[in-house]
Amino acid sequence: MKILVTVKRVLDFNVKVHVNADGRGVDLANVKMSMNPFDEIAVEEAVRLKEAGIATEVVAVSCGIAKCQETLRTALAIGADRAILVETDVELQPLAVAKLVKALVEKEQPQLVFCGKQAIDDDANQTGQMLAALMGWAQATFASKVVVADNTATVTREIDGGLETLELKLPVVVTTDLRLNEPRYATLPNIMKAKKKTLDTLTPESLGVDVTPRLETLAVTEPAKRVAGIRVADVRQLIDKLKNESKVI
Ligand code: AMP
Repeated sequence: MKILVTVKRVLDFNVKVHVNADGRGVDLANVKMSMNPFDEIAVEEAVRLKEAGIATEVVAVSCGIAKCQETLRTALAIGADRAILVETDVELQPLAVAKLVKALVEKEQPQLVFCGKQAIDDDANQTGQMLAALMGWAQATFASKVVVADNTATVTREIDGGLETLELKLPVVVTTDLRLNEPRYATLPNIMKAKKKTLDTLTPESLGVDVTPRLETLAVTEPAKRVAGIRVADVRQLIDKLKNESKVI
């Protein structure tokens, strides 16, 4: 069984984000970029399925600018077998990514596609669902446990107030949640080995996919700055302030 894993290059989760000058996006100049954290979990899960003898090959896929190669090399260092970059300078939205991955799924014929549950830059939480819909495949989102056996995936999902377990016939799209696993660190020998693994580059045109953006971001705003707190002398003063200043009671 072949597994395809999507990996997105995003702002590192430790970076403090600032709105850029035109107020329509965030400032990406000179900031650290990394693999989307949920995608690291997705690669780790795919590699574990290969190590368990359930998967035969793990192919990592990224769509975007040439620098996404770095993200793919990280996936290869974690243990993916080979990588595909769909290279474009067009800003990709989830529907475009889902169409590109669909074209690759048709070429590669995996039985399982792992995506992150959401990208921490656009927070869209759409790509995996759109891919499953375009393919007409079953999907299990927010996975916290995945068991694959006998042409079936049994997936435990994190839902409000509990867990839900689904059984799905392969092929299937699974999106990964935080508690699915703890991704391993790529060791230096594995980083060196990853440099020798195959990384193919395709383009949206060669896959026959139109990636023109469909949505326009009108404004991005930073949250209001929190004002400093004050210390009140006693409960009477606290109640007075809640009643007469902030008017919340
Ligand atoms: P989103 O729908 O944008 O929140 O992204 C959900 C997941 O889709 C991510 O965690 C990735 O696994 C995948 N994805 C989104 N955009 C890309 C991209 N440009 N390249 C590869 N994978 C992507």
